[in-house]
Amino acid sequence: MPTNWQRALAVVAHPDDLEYGCAAAVAGWTDDGREITYLLATRGEAGIDTLDPERCAPLREQEQRASAAVVGVSRVEFLDHRDGVIEYGIALRRDIAAAVRRHRPELVITLNHRDTWGGVAWNTPDHRAVGRATLDAVADAGNRWIFPELTQQGLAPWNGVRWVAVAGSSTPTHAVDATAGLERSVQSLLAHRTYIEVLTDEDPEAYCRTFLTGNAQASAERFGGRPAVAFELFAR
Ligand SMILES: [Zn+2]
Repeated sequence: MPTNWQRALAVVAHPDDLEYGCAAAVAGWTDDGREITYLLATRGEAGIDTLDPERCAPLREQEQRASAAVVGVSRVEFLDHRDGVIEYGIALRRDIAAAVRRHRPELVITLNHRDTWGGVAWNTPDHRAVGRATLDAVADAGNRWIFPELTQQGLAPWNGVRWVAVAGSSTPTHAVDATAGLERSVQSLLAHRTYIEVLTDEDPEAYCRTFLTGNAQASAERFGGRPAVAFELFAR
């Protein structure tokens, strides 16, 4: 994984998308003094069956901020697209391009944009939409004529994104050592307490640890033997 960068912007659909794997890499990066910003398309308000969206949204926003803080991320932004029905389209591309121009990252991170997680597990429409729009918006951010209204708002084009790293890809190309960040990633996922408690009957901490350790171990087998977070890297 490239290390010659200072700022990263992670763009995902829902609270918890970054905690199911990425956060261990993020912890290592913030330890190194890199600046990471989280951008979420929704507040995950449709994620809990027993909680209506108006009550769910502020709760999940709060859990996401706590979760980010565990791995050294203090900037967490929300775009307010609607959970479950995010549309791939110009509005989403524009919102993400605006964030890229505002934060001027060299590395952009997103979650699997493909139809499946590999094999028979179908991906969600929100992940597909946000992943694809992120890959596209990186180019939009650098072109002054695609969203001229952003320039008028004072957001100058930013052509400095060098890579987009896709987490959760079934065809990863690069990996980050997760050793230092693994325990914090467990605590980071655990910060989504309300969501996790609804999701599983298991002890929440055991659930988070088993899931993340298993993932890091699966990547280790493929990338050099140490626990790892794997990404599919697109270079620009
Ligand atoms: Zn999600």
